[in-house]
Amino acid sequence: MRVVAPSLKPLSAALLATALLVATPAQAQSGQAAQQHAPQAAPLPQSTLDIAARLREQALADDTAWTLIESLTTEIGPRLPGSEADARAVAWAKARFEALGYDRVWTEPVTFPKWERRSESAAVLGAHAQPLVITALGGSPGGDVSADLVRFDGIEALEAADPATLAGRIVFVDMPMERTRDGSGYGKAGPVRSRGPSIAARKGAAAYLMRSIGTSPHRVANTGITRFDADVTPIPAAALSLPDADQLTRLLRFGPVQVRLALDVGWNGEYTSHNVIAELTGRERPEEIVLIAGHLDSWDLGTGAVDDASGVGITMAAGHLVAQQPQRPRRSLRVVAFANEEQGLLGARAYAEAHGGADVIARHVVGAESDFGAGRIYGFNTSAPAGQRATSDAIAEVLRPLGIDYLQDKGGPGPDIVPLAQKGGAWAWLGQDGTDYFDLHHNADDTLDKVDPDAVAQNTAAYAVFAWLAAESEESFGSAPKAEAP
Ligand SMILES: [Zn+2]
Repeated sequence: MRVVAPSLKPLSAALLATALLVATPAQAQSGQAAQQHAPQAAPLPQSTLDIAARLREQALADDTAWTLIESLTTEIGPRLPGSEADARAVAWAKARFEALGYDRVWTEPVTFPKWERRSESAAVLGAHAQPLVITALGGSPGGDVSADLVRFDGIEALEAADPATLAGRIVFVDMPMERTRDGSGYGKAGPVRSRGPSIAARKGAAAYLMRSIGTSPHRVANTGITRFDADVTPIPAAALSLPDADQLTRLLRFGPVQVRLALDVGWNGEYTSHNVIAELTGRERPEEIVLIAGHLDSWDLGTGAVDDASGVGITMAAGHLVAQQPQRPRRSLRVVAFANEEQGLLGARAYAEAHGGADVIARHVVGAESDFGAGRIYGFNTSAPAGQRATSDAIAEVLRPLGIDYLQDKGGPGPDIVPLAQKGGAWAWLGQDGTDYFDLHHNADDTLDKVDPDAVAQNTAAYAVFAWLAAESEESFGSAPKAEAP
């Protein structure tokens, strides 16, 4: 089963979890075959667990993560890949890592096509003329289209439509997204954005409008990347706020609705950004890496506070807390602020290419990314196979006082961990409550005031505990090179 289409952002942690859990038996077999260190019944002595508990309490009283999130969203602001702010964000991350006590800080280049949003507007024309709140999807071409709407309540209905009914029209897909704690509603709605524009273009539509993939009742539209199939001519594609989508559906009761969609957006050359990487060098096994991460880029409508300044701040601060301990953990702890996650995991794919070859994948002991907002963590799991779960069990025990359950049938890799996981890297899941995440995700409401400092401290405590224990343990989590799915 293909986990992620090569050019598309994964749709949700839950969706990936389903895909990766399916792959677990094979992973477990290859992991055991490549196992270098015998599984240990008790890999972590009480003194190590005591340090973890102390780290947890220190993190709960520490505001480093919050201060970082405030700084990134205030001083840099939105961080669209390839924008002027992208370069300032890279410099920011490098300087902050250096100030936080890491042993080694460096950048690695990531080159990608640059997409720009210059202006965008839409309006109903004719007898019921009125403005609409929309935003272009990332990857959309520009264009100025005035045409009648053809409404569909889902992607299947669009797929079944006779092309003759769509030629020269604006396709309008009005499919609500379900609000869930684990983000599974996002997975179900995903194809409306990832596949809908190409389907509409192939059937001869002039433009594409969709109900935002989001749950906000406010008049904000949610952007996000779309990618056109190679065999179609791209058409202007945009998302409507939920109230605007409802308004169009009501207006259609009165007869044909003509809409003007005017987008000045599009691809414009190439840009080279950077993954920013910081490391605490392991005292006994420096070549073995525990990786925690967030992504430095964001969409441009808000300030990228929950997506993903929070993940950057939480993991940067967690590493900083581990760095305060009297000695380094056995293994190296690597914290990565990935470039351009939003347009297709481009920083993470570059990292996996540079570091994830078959000969070194086993050295990435386990990876975890914080990229599901800033809500409290409620669940923990890892991909470690049976017989190699003593460290996972110990981590779960230390996380329990944070209100985190050990959910051994749940979870999956964060988006930027997927390229490593596809090569056989083990993952850990620190599952955040995403009930409110899609009120903010990729829209203008993703700003600092939505971030709860207490929840950020709880997240930081969980990442510090995980990072310390995973890096101090000598047990494998089952990382082992595997053939990638075709
Ligand atoms: Zn994100």
